[in-house]
Amino acid sequence: MMGMALWKDIQNTLENKYSRPNFVTWIKPASLSEEGDGLFTVVVPNEYAKSWVERNALKDIRALIEPHCSVINDLRVVVAQSAAPSTEDLPLLQAEPDQSSPEPTSELKSVDTAPPKRFNPHYTFETFIVGNNNRLAFAAAQVVAERPGEAYNPLFIYGGVGLGKTHLMQAVANEILKRDPNKKIAYVSCETFTTEFIQALQNKKIESFKNKYRNVDVFLVDDIQFLANKEGTQEEFFHTFNILHQANRQIVLTSDRVPKEIPNLEERLTSRFGWGMIADIQSPNFETRMAIIQEKLRERGVAIDPEVIEYVASSVTSNVRELEGSLTKLITAAEIEKSPITLPFAQNMLRDLTTRGKGTVTVKKITKTVCDHFQIELTDLLGNKRVKELVYPRQLAMYLMRERLRHSYPQIGETFGGKDHTTVMHAVNKISALKKNDPAVEKDLQLLNQELYA
Ligand code: ADP
Ligand code: MG
Repeated sequence: MMGMALWKDIQNTLENKYSRPNFVTWIKPASLSEEGDGLFTVVVPNEYAKSWVERNALKDIRALIEPHCSVINDLRVVVAQSAAPSTEDLPLLQAEPDQSSPEPTSELKSVDTAPPKRFNPHYTFETFIVGNNNRLAFAAAQVVAERPGEAYNPLFIYGGVGLGKTHLMQAVANEILKRDPNKKIAYVSCETFTTEFIQALQNKKIESFKNKYRNVDVFLVDDIQFLANKEGTQEEFFHTFNILHQANRQIVLTSDRVPKEIPNLEERLTSRFGWGMIADIQSPNFETRMAIIQEKLRERGVAIDPEVIEYVASSVTSNVRELEGSLTKLITAAEIEKSPITLPFAQNMLRDLTTRGKGTVTVKKITKTVCDHFQIELTDLLGNKRVKELVYPRQLAMYLMRERLRHSYPQIGETFGGKDHTTVMHAVNKISALKKNDPAVEKDLQLLNQELYA
């Protein structure tokens, strides 16, 4: 097996091995060509892809080629000649023309017709990155979308702001409609539900309000915590809930907290919210943040140096919405200033984000983080003992001071008890090189960065 068939085969194996965004961003657009004499070339669309593939995939690709040829004399990654950044290679995201009107329409005007389909076409299961923080909620949402009304009813998803509750809920809607475009789905924020209810009372249109929500197949209510303290709306919601539930219509609710912590929520509602499944979403860890950024870049058809992705993922830890916000800020600023998105550029742009409220990264913070990570004493880290257990952490600390604080080599030498600047330079270069080739070093750096910005 050679050429195309071999590459397809390799892609299939890697698809199972790598995370989906990694696969789609870096491996899928690549191709393999064989020049004869055991010379192989992996052709990729741009420099970022080259750097990623070299760092993360070349070893695997080599191992997968090996069984199919007598010898590999050379295996290299090259950037395709005519590579223009293009979104054409990227899989089309669900882009249904009839779902493209994002502005909320006035609901009451259309009470007699089916609720408008206005789900964000980007909010699908495919674009949702799964990590330990959201695995259960994701799995439950998928089950609900496959068999609405049958499995968990209601599905109650809770978690902090910007962690993907709305995304997941709309993914349920998008998936159900994909399977059956005739399904009637009502998606409403709890606030809108409340406002409409009050307006309906004032305008004596309560019947049409009731019809609107009691005749649907799927009822999605976002941010249900806003039912707090609203007795009248709770009463109305209670009846809607019962009618739909008895008819085996699927109900999905999101909230920023568990039902029993919603103030003044009637007990009969609190208990009903627990009838199906209650699933939480936590903050994503570093790896999941990396994958989310890669997915967002893929959606936009933008490529960014992996180093910068790593920096953003370690700087913005609070929630996914902020993560996306920083990314948008970076991309927009780079466009305006016609600048490539380099690490210094990103550091400059996102400086306030990384320092705000979390304490700036300092020499002391770096030394402490490294000492804690490797369980060594500060005096040993800064000292001269040349044993492996100390040399490597010392080099990492020097590297971090250079990369994160932009300290000069002599300055870092001073910090380490008056070491020569060439020693520091050697350490920084060594870690830079190892970082590209040694996954263990890459991992250490990831963890240290995560600690530094936590
Ligand atoms: P919430 O409703 O919990 O406040 P959203 O669903 O509005 O949060 O999510 C905020 C942004 O973060 C959205 O753009 C969403 O696509 C994105 N997001 C959150 N979690 C994920 C994830 N796991 N994978 C991909 N994107 C995510
Ligand atoms: Mg939301």
